[in-house]
Amino acid sequence: MTPDERRAELEAIAAEVRVCQRCRLGATRTNAVPGEGEPETEVVFVGEGPGFNEDRLGRPFVGRAGDLLVKLLATLGWRRSEVFITNVVKCRPPDNRDPEPDEVAACLPYLRRQLEVLDPALIVTLGRHSMARFMPGARVSQAHGTFAPADPETGARAALTFALYHPAAALRSSEVERQSYADVAGIPAALLEARRRRDEGPTGPTPGLVATTAHATQAVVAEPTRPADEPTLF
Ligand code: SF4
Ligand code: URA
Repeated sequence: MTPDERRAELEAIAAEVRVCQRCRLGATRTNAVPGEGEPETEVVFVGEGPGFNEDRLGRPFVGRAGDLLVKLLATLGWRRSEVFITNVVKCRPPDNRDPEPDEVAACLPYLRRQLEVLDPALIVTLGRHSMARFMPGARVSQAHGTFAPADPETGARAALTFALYHPAAALRSSEVERQSYADVAGIPAALLEARRRRDEGPTGPTPGLVATTAHATQAVVAEPTRPADEPTLF
């Protein structure tokens, strides 16, 4: 897929999301939040669902949790415009309640299509609801800072998935915040491993790998974007 085709496909999905009424969250949202970022990125961040600020602006992670996410990315030298950021559900659950299983099921086809188009090497899950899609059965207290192959059923053909705590959890606990910074330091090594597996060819990723990367080498430099390109918002 060319960069122009990828951009157009992502915009087509976003346009559908903006008018979607497939679940009851469509009735109470102000703005749907399809997600945004660099179409040619190798790294996609997936949160749980929009909050108050995201609902008002129609953009993901623009409140306090988003500010922390930007700080975490900055420790890698990454900007939010260089990656793609989206959520499991695209409309805000009232009063920030957890999304219901039927709402998640209704919305998941959008995330799957986004991942099919983006074909990322690495998916970074933010919090347990997102992690549950990509690492079924894992507990965030144990899986944070680790990676495992993403099930191709998620739409990501050949990706590793890396678990982080939700930034909102880090805002509530300085220990979780400290751990989040330590976990993020493992992302470049996970990206390099993801690239290595994609380069291995059609046999694809070996199932079962789970590596702890919290103490991964600091010497690794991995950029999140394939070719240099202008950031795009969706
Ligand atoms: Fe549609 Fe998803 Fe919004 Fe439900 S949450 S109305 S499925 S976009
Ligand atoms: N929390 C999320 O999970 N997603 C957002 O977009 C903002 C806050």
